[in-house]
Amino acid sequence: MSKPIVAIVGRPNVGKSTLFNALAGEMISIVKDTPGVTRDRIYADVSWLDRDFTIIDTGGIEPDSQDIILSQMREQAQIAIDSADVIIFITDVRQGLTDADSQVADMLRKSRRPVVLAVNKVDNYKSQQMDVYEFYNLGIGEPFPISAEGKQGIGDLLDAVVSHFPEHSGEEEDSEIPKIAIVGKPNVGKSSIINKLLGENRVIVSDIPGTTRDAVDTTITRNGKDYIFIDTAGLRRKSKIKEDIERYSIIRTVSAVERCDVAVLMIDAAEGITEQDAKIAGIAHDRGKGLIIAVNKWDLVEKDNSTMKTYTEKIRSVLSFAPYAEMLYISAKTGQRLNKLFDAVDQVLESQSLRVPTGVLNEILTEAIAMQQPPSDKGRRLKIFYMTQVSIKPPTFVIFVNDRKLMHFSYQRYLENRIRDSFGFQGTAIHFIIRERQ
Ligand code: GDP
Ligand code: GDP
Repeated sequence: MSKPIVAIVGRPNVGKSTLFNALAGEMISIVKDTPGVTRDRIYADVSWLDRDFTIIDTGGIEPDSQDIILSQMREQAQIAIDSADVIIFITDVRQGLTDADSQVADMLRKSRRPVVLAVNKVDNYKSQQMDVYEFYNLGIGEPFPISAEGKQGIGDLLDAVVSHFPEHSGEEEDSEIPKIAIVGKPNVGKSSIINKLLGENRVIVSDIPGTTRDAVDTTITRNGKDYIFIDTAGLRRKSKIKEDIERYSIIRTVSAVERCDVAVLMIDAAEGITEQDAKIAGIAHDRGKGLIIAVNKWDLVEKDNSTMKTYTEKIRSVLSFAPYAEMLYISAKTGQRLNKLFDAVDQVLESQSLRVPTGVLNEILTEAIAMQQPPSDKGRRLKIFYMTQVSIKPPTFVIFVNDRKLMHFSYQRYLENRIRDSFGFQGTAIHFIIRERQ
């Protein structure tokens, strides 16, 4: 089941980043950093009461005039409405209710998305209680007094947020139909590929219930099998600010990737791989989704015998954190190798659901340990007792060891490589959980 997305919306300076950091910093479930990707913190994974969710901070750069504030807030609110399951609307008790607050509240109310109203900077509730009540006037329900800086009231706020999540039912959302998110920078060819696929295959363009999101879902049938494509190209924000456009594009990507099984990252062959591409790949990697790199506009590239190899090496080095990614060279314009995309998707789906029996896994483990001794530190050596696969999508393995501090990243990478040598897992991240056992 995909994780709910919670968006934080509010005027500049009300404390959005402070709240975001408080949530991401302390209550964050451990998310390892993706090497090679410098991340501005737009989104973070959080756990509360056993529920995992992703928070996104919709706040962009600070506008300097009043009328820009309003138009920017409208944009932010729309992004939140489009991409979030629950919205935290944050206001500032010190500034009191402003006109911009009321206008945004109207928008949120009309959207019918669940909204939790936070009144921030309530550093002393006793003396500020009356000021908090004023926010009932927004007409979006009970105001939760918080101090993002003092980390007060956040538990109650999160309780309210989590109460809006759909129940754990597991089944209904996880329909059998694989979901593929087409992601990438503007102009790489996301709409073109969808159009081309629509043109060449029997299609049913369907309204899938629950997709009021900022992405258009399209069902494409190929060889009797359905695939749902989540297209993030659909809507284009008319923001004039470059930072905002990038921020919104990241938010849209997070929300589409969250819902998908396999992410197809499109790269513009004419332009080459960029840092923004790496950021997007990092989102799929962090989320443990399948990853296919589709190098598009291949028709524009002048080729000789080594062109593809040179491209592949360059891309692999920039995306070194995801060496498992499948790669394809395509042209959405001419249709070149587009049918290979489905084969790659099928392959990745298979990898994501592959289960390795514990016995076989431990044979590989024993062999791997014999070939390369586990690391030691100050005379104490890492002992690995055994390993078992606990889940799929992404394939997740628990490794039982004597002391988890002795498990170096490089040795874990070595074990991962041995597992991949034996079982493939092409196109999907695999996760490890290191547990201690005496
Ligand atoms: P954003 O623009 O909405 O992201 O707001 P920031 O998180 O950058 O916060 C704006 C200012 O408000 C900063 O100077 C914060 O230190 C301050 N601030 C944030 N939360 C609180 C709070 O709970 N109490 C007080 N007194 N100040 C806060
Ligand atoms: P999006 O913003 O990612 O949805 O990109 P579009 O699908 O709108 O494509 C942006 C531009 O690139 C358009 O002018 C397309 O015609 C062009 N384009 C897309 N794919 C290809 C391709 O494979 N080859 C060439 N030559 N142009 C392409």
